[in-house]
Amino acid sequence: MSRVLVIGCGGVASVAIQKCCQADEVFTELCIASRTKEKCDVLAEKLKGKTKTVLTTAKVDADDVDQLIELINDYKPDLVMNIALPYQDLTIMDACLACGVNYMDTANYEPEDTDDPKWRAIYEKRCKEEGFSAYFDYSWQWAYRKKFEDAGLTALLGCGFDPGVTQAYCAYALKHEFDQINTIDILDCNGGDHGYAFATNFNPEINLREVSAPGSYWENGHWVEIPPMDIKREYNFDQVGDKDMYLLHHEEIESLAKTIPGVKRIRFFMTFGQSYLDHMRCLEDVGMLSTTPIQYNGQEIVPIQFLKELLPDPASLGPRTKGKTNIGCIFTGVKDGKEKTYYIYNVCDHQECYHEVGSQAISYTTGVPAMCGAMMMLTGKWIRPGVYTVEEFDPDPFLDALDRYGLPRSENHDPKLVD
Ligand code: NDP
Repeated sequence: MSRVLVIGCGGVASVAIQKCCQADEVFTELCIASRTKEKCDVLAEKLKGKTKTVLTTAKVDADDVDQLIELINDYKPDLVMNIALPYQDLTIMDACLACGVNYMDTANYEPEDTDDPKWRAIYEKRCKEEGFSAYFDYSWQWAYRKKFEDAGLTALLGCGFDPGVTQAYCAYALKHEFDQINTIDILDCNGGDHGYAFATNFNPEINLREVSAPGSYWENGHWVEIPPMDIKREYNFDQVGDKDMYLLHHEEIESLAKTIPGVKRIRFFMTFGQSYLDHMRCLEDVGMLSTTPIQYNGQEIVPIQFLKELLPDPASLGPRTKGKTNIGCIFTGVKDGKEKTYYIYNVCDHQECYHEVGSQAISYTTGVPAMCGAMMMLTGKWIRPGVYTVEEFDPDPFLDALDRYGLPRSENHDPKLVD
């Protein structure tokens, strides 16, 4: 028996909500709330008669803490699932604290306006002190630890696939496969083809900010930052084949560097096709990825937000995308005094996802872990006052739930390593 409030009703949220409705013995009542209520109504209508979960919908602007507090006090959920955008993480955490409700999300905080001088001053200090320049980092949400502890509430951060499942894979490797993990390579391969020259698989603004930023990795206790797309490798992915992949900064590296004892190196690679990279470089060169507002015909527009309007809606890629994703972690380390390697990953088929929930695999591989993480919290397995990332909880029941709800793990005890 539980009552859950989901905020957001985009690509990822619509998968998570449909999966919650498949587990209606846990998710007995669910309210879908977003800025555009009509989208919530359409989804609730689609699910009518297919689930025992009692669905309601609401309109909320999650940038406004007062609106959130009013909605939460009115609905009285056991858990708020934030599947809106990373811009809303802090306002939703504030509202959860004010109302005494547990919180979870799928991506760490970043500001919508990166020119805000107050934010910029803190950001620039962090870049110098920490040594990486991504707009997003955990410091803002880790600062809520004491508040959540004191309130006896749990906040679970970044429970999608990466971040999310990749950290559970690390916790699993540490629990079952290694006494000491030396290196972790997180490999995110999308072998899907949607037939467009250029489109992003999830929110274009968030996606393009992430991939156009400098890359960085953790080595021997500090960050090494490199120009965007500067390190390229080729890898032969199970059920996908050979793909070019590039080293990116990624948020889970920051938490894993703290939570995996003695780890020497952590890198993150993502595959990109040449067409995607050529388009991105060109858009960046002409200023279309800028988050700084400009004046156009007497109106203020933000170039990257305007670009988002022109690009295909990621939610519309479902019927067109064919192929598979393969996301996982390769480890080197020591067990019982012997050096060993281990690879744990999931392969997900875009068309199978589309036939099950009407979405492509990127939304699916994020929405299913969000649902499974919520299930861990609602069933008391992942409840501990404070603010936590996924690898800080027992990975076993979570990976079992993923196996059951559509993202089964595969393992290789003799993987090819990445140089
Ligand atoms: P979408 O853009 O498809 O959906 C975002 C949703 O949030 C929309 O319903 C939008 O409403 C709503 N929203 C935006 N602003 C507000 C607001 N102020 N108040 C209320 N609702 C709001 O994004 P995705 O579904 O692709 O991504 C969702 C989240 O998942 C993001 O945080 C993203 O970074 C994360 N993600 C995580 C991954 C992982 O593996 N961990 C991978 C992929 C994504 P409206 O329709 O009105 O705009």
